[in-house]
Amino acid sequence: MSAKPSLIGLSHEELKTLVQSLDEPKFRADQLHSWIYVKNERDFDKMTNLAKSLRQKLSEKYVIGALSIAEKQVSADGTIKYLFRLTDGQMVESVLMYFEERDVYAVCLSTQVGCAVNCDFCATGKLGFKRNLTVAEIVEQLIYVRHDSGANVRNIVFMGQGEPLLNYDNLMQATRVINHSAEIGMRHITISTSGIIPAIDRLAEEKLQLTLAVSLHAPDDETRLKFMPINKKYPVKELVNALHRYVDKTGRRVTIEYILLAGVNDTKAHADRLNDLLRTLHCNINLIPYNPIGEQYGYERPSRDQVLSFRDWLMQGPHKVTVRIERGTDIAAACGQLQNKNLLAAQPA
Ligand code: SAH
Ligand code: SF4
Repeated sequence: MSAKPSLIGLSHEELKTLVQSLDEPKFRADQLHSWIYVKNERDFDKMTNLAKSLRQKLSEKYVIGALSIAEKQVSADGTIKYLFRLTDGQMVESVLMYFEERDVYAVCLSTQVGCAVNCDFCATGKLGFKRNLTVAEIVEQLIYVRHDSGANVRNIVFMGQGEPLLNYDNLMQATRVINHSAEIGMRHITISTSGIIPAIDRLAEEKLQLTLAVSLHAPDDETRLKFMPINKKYPVKELVNALHRYVDKTGRRVTIEYILLAGVNDTKAHADRLNDLLRTLHCNINLIPYNPIGEQYGYERPSRDQVLSFRDWLMQGPHKVTVRIERGTDIAAACGQLQNKNLLAAQPA
């Protein structure tokens, strides 16, 4: 635990200001920036091209990162789940995934501790909302994973714990730093939201090249309300209208995420209604077969045949349809399974 502020999360400009405040020339900021964001270095003493006196000054006032690792689990498919402890003792998870067929590493980042949206099928929702992550805490997950794994990470998905658009300002600042400083292309960044309409409109104004993914999960209010209470506030048709506005403003195709819950939203009638609803929207559809979070919640994953049938029905419509490749189910690292297992164990039920 440390009370000193962390340098990770600061932009290049902010590092320049900081270096000048220490009476050092500006170019030192370039070196510091490169150590932190390109070499993913967490130890001032290893920054060998900085004068010892500067390293001393820096380490008296700052730390490079503030996360510590509580647990690291490796899945049979190579996925790594990191459980991080934050300075106040809260915990969050990040997941490193390798996609062999495309030879690409992706990292799934958290934006909040827990989540207030409370979707019925999601383990994070069951934690309730604890707090927003800071810019530093969001960016450091990526830097830590790169430092630890040495993986050449190309893609970032904001699909860990939390509803990213309910931590809007920190999410946006972290995204800028991840793009400009950690050098992840905007087109390789995906933000997944449960559909917070005012924030989608705000994001549209930023006109970024990132991908917006929306957890629609149902073609109508009746079905969606069964498992997503947020639908009371932001109903299906209004959400789809917001997505049309988003596409108009940004020119970017959106991704529609659709969880498949056996017997709940996976019939042909649901597929047909979904195609009607989305017919004119510029989108791809990504199906996510439910990842189990506990029998007590009553949901089941449809059979592989049912998943493929649902995909085929949807493919009669105009959109590209994919089935999400599952990663890390055996270590509860797949979509919806992030639940701070350690934290829960430490708390009375
Ligand atoms: N809070 C954001 C992003 C995090 S979850 C959101 O809800 O969009 C990433 C995706 O996993 C979302 O589409 C979410 O609905 C889905 N998901 C949640 N729980 C799941 C589960 N148990 N099985 C499969 N997908 C799940
Ligand atoms: Fe929150 Fe997303 Fe989980 Fe819903 S699915 S509870 S929005 S993290």
